[in-house]
Amino acid sequence: MDYRVLLYYNYTKIENPEIFAKEHLAFCRSIGLKGRILVAEEGINGTVSGTIEDTQKYMDWMHNDERFKETWFKIDEAEGHAFRKMFVRARKELVALNLDEDVDPLRLTGEYLDPKAFKEALLDEDTIVLDARNDYEFDLGHFRGAIRPDIRNFRDLPQWIRENKEKFMDKKVVTYCTGGIRCEKFSGWLLREGVENVSQLHGGIAMYGKDPEVQGELWDGKMYVFDDRISVEINHVDKKVIGKDWFDGTPCERYINCANPFCNRQIIASEENEAKHLGGCSIDCATNEANRYVKRNNLSEAERDARIEALQATVSI
Ligand SMILES: [Zn+2]
Repeated sequence: MDYRVLLYYNYTKIENPEIFAKEHLAFCRSIGLKGRILVAEEGINGTVSGTIEDTQKYMDWMHNDERFKETWFKIDEAEGHAFRKMFVRARKELVALNLDEDVDPLRLTGEYLDPKAFKEALLDEDTIVLDARNDYEFDLGHFRGAIRPDIRNFRDLPQWIRENKEKFMDKKVVTYCTGGIRCEKFSGWLLREGVENVSQLHGGIAMYGKDPEVQGELWDGKMYVFDDRISVEINHVDKKVIGKDWFDGTPCERYINCANPFCNRQIIASEENEAKHLGGCSIDCATNEANRYVKRNNLSEAERDARIEALQATVSI
């Protein structure tokens, strides 16, 4: 394993994010990194892959910059690149939460829990553990006993909290996400909303899985990641599969994008069921003219029609 994947963020002031992004991209390319980095006036958030040497160059370069000298890089070993290209994009904000009034995590954020303290919180009956990610991330893996907000996207979380406020107001609330960046803002927002006792998993699930003492215990399934790896292991103690096949509910951890390019929904499906359903999350998606599964696998028209016929037969029962 000669490669590494770096996951990091840093809330810090960046002037002229557009210009910054261009220069940053040029540097990343010059040392052969691939990945996706977002920059905004409020800071930087990225995942990049490269050789051990090149990722080290990047970290050293960042740490030499006054703005990023405290950036905490979470490092995964890897077999190769986790991305095909290198992007650096300027955005208005690093994390989209649909807030009328933004939260500055440098001023207001929940208390940080290290993995050991977080594990204790998981075992404490008086603590509510809230997953601060998208629903498809939760469905592949999550902490045992965590609450799955009934939302499709993380940005809808504040709205959902407001609708269910009575469940949280007087409780100890602990939040977690992949690397910690979403919780920085979300936990600050919870405090501003009047929830008194709010803390967050420092370093996110990624660090929880690497902690030599907790070793990912009480995490079920795998962790979804936003790169070509799609998912990584977290629990090295008593791992359980919790992902369920979209079509038949059997245990499965294989993610695919719905083959209808107008849908793209992320679902968990075995290779067999993907083939049966032409990669579509519904009959409509399976039969869509632009179905990518059909194209990718060069299915003949007769083969396609036969599979759709078989599908329609099972659905109408
Ligand atoms: Zn679909």
